[in-house]
Amino acid sequence: MAANAPKNVAIIGSGVAGLASAIRLAARGHKVCVFEAAACAGGKVGEHRDGPYRFDLGPSLFTLPEALDELFRDAGADPAAYYGYRKLDTICRYFFADGKVLNAWADPEQMAREFEEVLGEPAENIHRYLAQARRLYDLTEPIFLRSSLHDWRTYWRAPWLKTLAGLPHLGAFQTMHRANEQMFNKPNSVQLFNRYATYNGSSPYKAPATLNVIGHLEHNMGAYFLQGGMRSLVTALHQLALERGVQFRFETPVEKILTRRQRFGRHLAVGVRAGGADHPADVVVSNMDVVPTYRQLLPELRHPSRILNQPRSTAALIFYWGMDRQYPALDVHNILFSADYPAEFRHLTETKTLCPDPTVYLYISSKAEPDDAPAGGENWFAMINVPHLAGQDWDTIVRDARTAILRKVERVLGEPVAPHIRSEFHLDPRDIQARTSSHLGALYGNSSDNRFAAFLRHPNFSRKLPGLYFCGGSVHPGGGIPLCLLSAHIVDEQVLRRQQSRAF
Ligand SMILES: Cc1cc2nc3c(=O)[nH]c(=O)nc-3n(C[C@H](O)[C@H](O)[C@H](O)COP(=O)(O)OP(=O)(O)OC[C@H]3O[C@@H](n4cnc5c(N)ncnc54)[C@H](O)[C@@H]3O)c2cc1C
Repeated sequence: MAANAPKNVAIIGSGVAGLASAIRLAARGHKVCVFEAAACAGGKVGEHRDGPYRFDLGPSLFTLPEALDELFRDAGADPAAYYGYRKLDTICRYFFADGKVLNAWADPEQMAREFEEVLGEPAENIHRYLAQARRLYDLTEPIFLRSSLHDWRTYWRAPWLKTLAGLPHLGAFQTMHRANEQMFNKPNSVQLFNRYATYNGSSPYKAPATLNVIGHLEHNMGAYFLQGGMRSLVTALHQLALERGVQFRFETPVEKILTRRQRFGRHLAVGVRAGGADHPADVVVSNMDVVPTYRQLLPELRHPSRILNQPRSTAALIFYWGMDRQYPALDVHNILFSADYPAEFRHLTETKTLCPDPTVYLYISSKAEPDDAPAGGENWFAMINVPHLAGQDWDTIVRDARTAILRKVERVLGEPVAPHIRSEFHLDPRDIQARTSSHLGALYGNSSDNRFAAFLRHPNFSRKLPGLYFCGGSVHPGGGIPLCLLSAHIVDEQVLRRQQSRAF
């Protein structure tokens, strides 16, 4: 077959990265089929409806919309024809344990003033932090987010030299907490910026200060609200994939990745087995978590055990409450901090138990999208970080967490909340594992609780099994929607390189 002839591509899973990979590869003319275990696309970006209430099940915060726009434009589509979003004026409202309430404004000047007025934090510290986060992003983005760390060609390009020169400024040798303690005068400011470690399921007391780059996405680039809620992202991706000729087989879990033995005992990925039939493919892309991809679909292959055995990220417990009244004190995104943040992370990463005073994240999409709740009501997504599955008694944890969350919200708002719950549903790490195959229910694959974590995520391709590629939150560059979209970009690049090197 000619090197540039269209290839048959089988994609395992239709999470954000699976959909993005499908679109990119189909846009290059390949024949793409997505096999999805669930009845619909989207993976963690799910939706729950109960009567007049609509809830985003997973992600709630949309950052780096440029990555999504880029995908649509690269596939020859106009993003505005598929989805819309707007920048939020208030990124998040923070409620501290000492009673202080701070709005994190999108406008940096306004935000710095707010820190000065509410917390007594000098405005110049906020500006310094934002400048440093921008610098971190500029240094790390081309290499750590947009390239394969496992392809030697990455290290022959000019951006690598820039990253190398900036190495002393990456913060790899101190923790996020230590860097923030040095940056800010007030403990509340440190706690607020420490929170960004949780965006990839890590602890600020262990993760490197390099992760302060996350603050750049939200504060320098902006937090956005997707019209119609997060689920509209999946609707848009699915529609574009169909228009580019991608085929979908829902309720068709892949049971095995097919391999063929070549010369010198090497193996090649040659398709998938799903729905009781073999489906030959030149390229197999797994969007399934990398741990079950190896353990369930490739039991005979030698596994990269060092990578697969890395500590997993934290998980989440979420209550979806349909409320029969509105709470003006709350915004779209709200954080109700715990009084003792170090203790909370000891529970999350060491004892792996429920913290009796967890930080609560409240997301209320109906404040931006009134149709998500009935008139006069609200749709609450109340989430706490919890440890990944480690043999705990989850029924007890769910019951205790519900009480702790309601107690905290009622204390902060100064009024009863529980009697106003009209609709209720919850997800815990057991459900997250069962619904999306996320190993141990972790939200973001491996944790980033050590300075080498970026290098200990699985590459976007398999060295052992040519023809097999990986995308999604459990592999490089990591979890969260923007990074999942970028993983698809890297997979596309790697497939193209293989094609150009006539390895097919
Ligand atoms: C509660 C929660 C809150 C979050 N908040 C945010 C946020 O605010 N912002 C943000 O950016 N990110 C957030 N995230 C993370 C984000 O949702 C994920 O990083 C991202 O959606 C993962 O996408 P993925 O491409 O890795 O695929 P996944 O969503 O993990 O989907 C994998 C797909 O593969 C399918 N599959 C698995 N095994 C098989 C098989 N054998 N055969 C066929 N199909 C299979 C599954 O059914 C699933 O559809 C959150 C996640 C959760 C759970």
